[in-house]
Amino acid sequence: MSAPDFPWQKPLRERMRRALLQQRMPHALLLEGPEGLGKRPFAGWVSLLVLCEAPAAETETRPCGKCRSCRWIAAGTHPDAFDLQPEEDKKWIAIEQVRELVEKLSLKSFARKGKVAVIWPASSLTSNAANSLLKTLEEPTSGTLLMLITSRPARLPATIRSRCQRLRFTVPPPAEASAWLTAQNEGTDWPRLLELGGGAPLAALALHEAGFAELDGSFRADLEALILRRQDPLSVAGRWSHCTPETCLGWLENCTRRLIIGRFSAVGEPAGAGLQKAAKSLKLQRLFLYLDQVNAARAALDSPLNWQLALESLLIPWSDELRPLEENPIFG
Ligand SMILES: [Zn+2]
Repeated sequence: MSAPDFPWQKPLRERMRRALLQQRMPHALLLEGPEGLGKRPFAGWVSLLVLCEAPAAETETRPCGKCRSCRWIAAGTHPDAFDLQPEEDKKWIAIEQVRELVEKLSLKSFARKGKVAVIWPASSLTSNAANSLLKTLEEPTSGTLLMLITSRPARLPATIRSRCQRLRFTVPPPAEASAWLTAQNEGTDWPRLLELGGGAPLAALALHEAGFAELDGSFRADLEALILRRQDPLSVAGRWSHCTPETCLGWLENCTRRLIIGRFSAVGEPAGAGLQKAAKSLKLQRLFLYLDQVNAARAALDSPLNWQLALESLLIPWSDELRPLEENPIFG
């Protein structure tokens, strides 16, 4: 398996290689940082690095991609590599799943190179499941590496966080991200997609692959029509609900910010001419309050939430001069 060569991960890859060479590989890693930076592929690469059967001294050429372990991992059949995530159609990792993993980790390593488990997203561990993981984090079987992945480390119990070595993934400088994206695909407005993706290159790439260039235009037209009361918020919500919550919330936040900036800046049309004009009637204070509402919706994403309903409550205010927060039935 060829390891993903994301340039922004290079320092972290070097850190892992050094740890392995100096035999200081921790028992537990917490991979934290925004979505869209490739934390899961990185964990896959660390699994390869640790379990690769090439001589340990050859850190530079590990993972070799050719040995038995490397081939097993590529095929997803390595008997010492485990992957723990919520079962299909579930939001949470259950305690039974953790118990099963803990039991497997306590057995002898099949290839005698240790065992690796990736838990993602770690914030989907129920508190019972997290508790049952604690003992393994405290007294791991020798040669065991647990990798927990999360974009919301604050949601993990402090007892878990404190037992992991933290690997922080940060957004690369825009020029570096744009250069990498342009190498993947020329002729796309990457700076705009990066802005919408919070600066994360893989988030920008996902937006591009989802045809977001056109979506951007139709979202703007919808919002303009809502302000001018030419469209019904419920039918707009019906259309938008086919996009991921992250996409819609990211777009709404970005657009609201642009509308606010547009009030202070005479240069350009930051949110699109038609929309900026239509939004002139909206009170600035309400635009700021609306940003809070978008953030509250984002914080609620982890809890069971009817997305269509949440979207309606985010779109209705636009056709009602951004109804104040306290009147909002869901996020108020
Ligand atoms: Zn190998």
